[in-house]
Amino acid sequence: MSLLFYATKKLGMATDKRHMTMRAWRWIVEILQAALILGLPFLRIKGESALRFDIPSLRLHVFGCTLWMQEFFIVLAATIFFTLLIVFVTLVFGRIWCGWLCPQTVLVDFTPFVDKAREKGIAYKITAYALTFLVSILVAASLIWYFVSPYEFIPDFLNGNLSSVTWGFWIVLTIVMLLNYAFLRHKWCATICPYAKLQGVMFDKDTLIIEMDPQREQECIECKSCVRNCPVEIDIRKGLNAACINCAECIDACSKIMTKFNKEGLIHYSYGHGGEGRIIRQNIFIVGAFTVLFLFFSAYLMFARTGVDFTVLPHNMEPRITKDGSVLNGYVLSVKNMLNNQVDLQVTLEGLDKDAIQSVTEPVHLDAGKMDKFPLFVRSKKTEGLKGIKKFKITLTDKNNKDISVTQEANFTIPDEV
Ligand code: SF4
Ligand code: SF4
Repeated sequence: MSLLFYATKKLGMATDKRHMTMRAWRWIVEILQAALILGLPFLRIKGESALRFDIPSLRLHVFGCTLWMQEFFIVLAATIFFTLLIVFVTLVFGRIWCGWLCPQTVLVDFTPFVDKAREKGIAYKITAYALTFLVSILVAASLIWYFVSPYEFIPDFLNGNLSSVTWGFWIVLTIVMLLNYAFLRHKWCATICPYAKLQGVMFDKDTLIIEMDPQREQECIECKSCVRNCPVEIDIRKGLNAACINCAECIDACSKIMTKFNKEGLIHYSYGHGGEGRIIRQNIFIVGAFTVLFLFFSAYLMFARTGVDFTVLPHNMEPRITKDGSVLNGYVLSVKNMLNNQVDLQVTLEGLDKDAIQSVTEPVHLDAGKMDKFPLFVRSKKTEGLKGIKKFKITLTDKNNKDISVTQEANFTIPDEV
C-alpha cells in the first residue's frame, strides 16, 4: 500500500495525511474496469471467446458455455438477476455505478485533454481531438469484438478481408463514440442515459449519497472549488441533485481546501441526509432476497442444461408389417450438440416390448456445436392384440458421460392389418 500511496502522491492524488484521494481510488477501479472490458474478448475458454454473441449462429458464448437460441430462457433469467442486482446496488449505494464503473465515466476520465482543449491553442485542439478519434476507433472495435472474435477481426483487418458489414458497424460506432467523447461527455449522464433517468425511483431516504455535512455548513469558505471541479457543473452544497453522478470529485476538491486549515473536508459520502440512513431495511431484504433467488435460479438453469437436444421427425417410410409378422416404424432423429465438447450418443428405447430392436447400435458421434440427422428404425414383434398408436421413449445418452442424457416421446404405429 505504501508504494501505491507513493505513486498516487507523486501524481498529486494523495492528501498529506497519507490518504489516497477518491480520484486515486477511482483511477485504480477504472483501469481495472477498462482492462476487463478490453481484455475479455481476447480471453478464450474451451476455444471460444469468454463472452461473445455470435450473430451468424445466434449463439452466446459465456465463460466456457455456449447457449443456443432455444436456451435463451437462461439469458432471460440472468437478465432478471442483473436488473434486480442494479436495483439492489442503487438502493444501497446510490449512483456508485455512474461515478466509479460506468464505461461512459471511465472513458470521459481517460480523455481529460478534451476538456482542456477548449481553452488551448489550435495545435493542442488538433492533438486532443486526434487522440479522441483514436480512442473512439479502439472503443468501437472493442464493442464489435463482443460479436466478432478479435482473433478473426484483427487478421481480417490486417489482410484487408474485413467484411463490409463489419466495416459499416465499425465506422458508425466510431462516429458515435467520437461525437460522444468529443462533445457530449458528461452531458450524456444528465440528458440521455436511461439509467440516470431511473435513479429517482430507485433511491430512498437511506441510500448512500454525497452531500455537504449539514453539521458543518457554516465552515464553508465559499471557495467554490467543489463546484469548479464538478464534471456535471452542479453545486452539491445546495443539496442532492439528480444530475450528480457520485464521482466524488467535490469530496477531493473540498478536502484539498480544508486540509490547508487542518480540517476534514466538508463533503462526504453519507447514508441518507446527515448520515441518518439505515443500511439494513425492509426493502433491502425484499430486493436482496429476489436478487439471490434469481442468481440461484440462473445458476441452476445453467448447470442443469444437458447441452444435447433432439427432435423426432417422421420418416418417409410408412409403418409396415414385415414377412415375419413384426411391425417396422421409421423415424429421423435431428440431434444438436450444444456443448463445447464432442459426444458419442447411444440410442435406447423404453416402453415397447423387451424384444423390440432398433437400427442404431453404434454410438452416434457429434462434434462440439454440431447438428446432425440420422434414421432410426424400430421393430417390434409382439403386436398381437395391439392396435393404433403406442407411445414409447427414445433416449440418447453420451457413452462417456451418462449425465448427458435426453429423452423424447415418440409414437409407434401399428398398421390396421395386424
Ligand atoms: S470546496 Fe468546500 S469550502 Fe469550498 S465551497 Fe465547496 S464546500 Fe465550501
Ligand atoms: S456533485 Fe460531486 S459527486 Fe456529484 S457529480 Fe459533482 S463532483 Fe461528482
